[in-house]
Amino acid sequence: MTKKKVYITGDIPRNGIDMLRENYHVEVFDSEAPITEDVLKEKIKGCDGLVSMVGDPVTSDVIEESGNLKVIANYGVGYDNIDVDRATQKGIKVTNTPGVLHETTADLTFSLILGVMRRTVESDKFLRDNNFKGWKPQLFLGNDVYGKRLGIIGMGEIGEAVAKRARGFEMDVLYNKRTPLSGEEENRLGVKYSDIEDIVKTSDIITLHVPLTKETKHLFTKEEFKKMKDDAYLINTARGPVVKEDDLVWALENREIKGAGLDVFEEEPKVHPGLMNREDCVLLPHIGSATEECRQEMAEIACKNVIKVLEGNKPITPVN
Ligand code: NAP
Repeated sequence: MTKKKVYITGDIPRNGIDMLRENYHVEVFDSEAPITEDVLKEKIKGCDGLVSMVGDPVTSDVIEESGNLKVIANYGVGYDNIDVDRATQKGIKVTNTPGVLHETTADLTFSLILGVMRRTVESDKFLRDNNFKGWKPQLFLGNDVYGKRLGIIGMGEIGEAVAKRARGFEMDVLYNKRTPLSGEEENRLGVKYSDIEDIVKTSDIITLHVPLTKETKHLFTKEEFKKMKDDAYLINTARGPVVKEDDLVWALENREIKGAGLDVFEEEPKVHPGLMNREDCVLLPHIGSATEECRQEMAEIACKNVIKVLEGNKPITPVN
């Protein structure tokens, strides 16, 4: 009997690939640049399973070319890169990897908050450039994180993990989501529900944790930046298009906000040229879940989802 075929569009940890290789014919796209739509269309022909990366364009056209495909297992929790409606119409299961990356991404969120507010990236560069001549009272003055008001927009797994960390910093945490948490959950996390307008106007730090949807695209534009405090910071580890990048650059240039910490960009891997030389921004190459531990767990879930579906069972973390 010929083995079923699984295509993996990125070099994920071996634990996942090995699991699939036990029973399937596995091919891995291993290249510096992510796979393009045209290459994916070719590669997917004749495949039963696909493990896709969060930047891959699993479009309606790609799905159309896919013939046999039974499952698209996205290697990440966000799945805005996949035309889920088209997959559903074709009876293809789509899965993601919740439950294993929220703590890791929350760590990175705090790393961005601390990095931009305490100016650690700038200071590191200053020292390496041999500019450190001794302790000075005004050297790299930043802002306190401790005790500040943190606005969390999107209070799911990552938002909650950020809120838990904020307790250690004795922050005053406001949050927004479409369906508020119960009073009990709010007490457990030490957070208060608020509308986005209030969060925008009163927070010292706003951190975004919504999925990218039609509703959340360009949630932050000039309008919100104008309302934010002039000394507030914006952190985005969600998805680039949640923020209109042109408007963010405008806000930074016009001192409408004080700084930004970004792990995601509107047209990745392109970064707005207006951000590149700004010292009031910390810019990271989409590494929210990038730890050895987390990526291994993601590989396990993504590949188990493929196996479940190809064996005729329900996936463990379905999207559709
Ligand atoms: P999650 O558990 O599904 O939480 C999403 C939250 O957003 C929920 O609280 C949801 O609550 C809220 N939400 C959805 N639409 C909203 C809207 N229009 N207005 C306000 N709140 C809204 O997802 P998660 O695991 O926390 O991940 C969040 C996102 O982070 C992912 O979708 C992904 O894009 C991104 N991410 C990035 C990285 C990275 O490497 N930088 C890593 C992991 C995840 P309601 O449904 O009640 O509104």
